[in-house]
Amino acid sequence: MQVFDQEIYDIVEKGLEGNGLSAENVLALYEVEETSKEAAYIRWAGQELSMIAADGVAEIHAQIGLNSTVCPKNCKFCSFAACNNVRKGKYELPKEDVLEYAKLYVEEGANLILMLTTASYSFDKLVDMVGSVREVIPADMPLLVNTDDMQLDQCRQLKAAGANGAYHAVRMREGEDTEIPVEKRFETFANLREAGLTLSTCVEPVGPEHTPEELTEATMRCISTNPLSAGVGKRIGVPGTLVYDRGMLTDVANANMVAVYRLATGRDLRLNCSANTVMTAASGANLAWAEVGTNPRDTVERTEHGGRGSNIAQLRKMFAASGWQVLDGPSKGWMR
Ligand code: SF4
Repeated sequence: MQVFDQEIYDIVEKGLEGNGLSAENVLALYEVEETSKEAAYIRWAGQELSMIAADGVAEIHAQIGLNSTVCPKNCKFCSFAACNNVRKGKYELPKEDVLEYAKLYVEEGANLILMLTTASYSFDKLVDMVGSVREVIPADMPLLVNTDDMQLDQCRQLKAAGANGAYHAVRMREGEDTEIPVEKRFETFANLREAGLTLSTCVEPVGPEHTPEELTEATMRCISTNPLSAGVGKRIGVPGTLVYDRGMLTDVANANMVAVYRLATGRDLRLNCSANTVMTAASGANLAWAEVGTNPRDTVERTEHGGRGSNIAQLRKMFAASGWQVLDGPSKGWMR
């Protein structure tokens, strides 16, 4: 019988102390074969540390996709990208539908609301939408945007309109699988910080082609941005996109990665993403996303109409199946 790898055991034990890990240690964990006994130990440890970090409480954040207008940034994994030719022309959700979705999400128990747009959405319209949604949700409910890169003045406008933060990420192979320079992402991180907006980010979208070295670099970069939530999210293969043929990670591989992220970041981060399956939610992921409206991982007009978007009831069941309580009321991870 194969002997358990002592080096991996020692790194995991160090990770369980909750103070994070070095890049060298993180690389060693990402190199572990996904079906090995060491990988099972990493997944157990990821769950153990996340349970401690979040007192056994998971959160469900709720995304409203505002438009699917063809986007010029050409991210090869995204159904909105012009280069993929999956979507046609312009499509935007009417404001009254967005407000209705926001109110419904609060009633159903979402812990945070996020509005997603393509880079082709009018910024002024987004500011107006933030202000209007802020009026129909509780004052202490975190409100985020996920949109194009932003200048400082734009971040300040969003903050003044009632936004608390943004989801923003350096994508895997940014500048190669997208037409966005990595430096633009860093400028936006700095502008968000300067404007007093906080950050949700992630190592994403991860596919089978990404190496342990790339995952390590992305993980250490995410940690350096001091986010309020982060983790690892797998790429969802959208038929017709340029990277569809590269395939998708198994849920087991994604679960290993969320566990590694948790051990890498330590105990201080309350919310570890992405709890997209029972497998990841049992390996350290305690943040899941419900989705309505347009969705870059989907091809239908509204993801809740026969598409892949999960609703809050489904995500509650998933967390129950993996041993998590779900928070009532506004996010605790965003109250740091
Ligand atoms: S991921 Fe965002 S920036 Fe890239 S093509 Fe899609 S909508 Fe545009």
